[in-house]
Amino acid sequence: MFFWFCFYLVFFCISVAIGYQKGNLIAGVLLGYVLGPVGALLMYMSKDRKHIECPECHQSIHKNSYYCPKCQHKVRLKTAQ
Ligand SMILES: [Zn+2]
Repeated sequence: MFFWFCFYLVFFCISVAIGYQKGNLIAGVLLGYVLGPVGALLMYMSKDRKHIECPECHQSIHKNSYYCPKCQHKVRLKTAQ
C-alpha cells in the first residue's frame, strides 16, 4: 500500500514538473492528481505553451524570444498568440 502511494506520488510530482515547465501548471496538478501515471504521460505529450520550436534549427526556445539563441534566426513570425 505504501509502495503504491510512493509510486503515485512520484508520477504526481513528474506531472506537476512537466506542467510547470510547459507553462500549464494547473493542468499538470489536476492531471497528475486525478490520473497519476497516465496524467503525467498526458502532460508529457501535451502541447508546450511556454516554448516554441525554432523553424531553422528546431531548438526549443521561449515563446517570447525574438531570435533563436542558438542560430540567431528570427522566430517571431506571428504577433498574436
Ligand atoms: Zn534556431
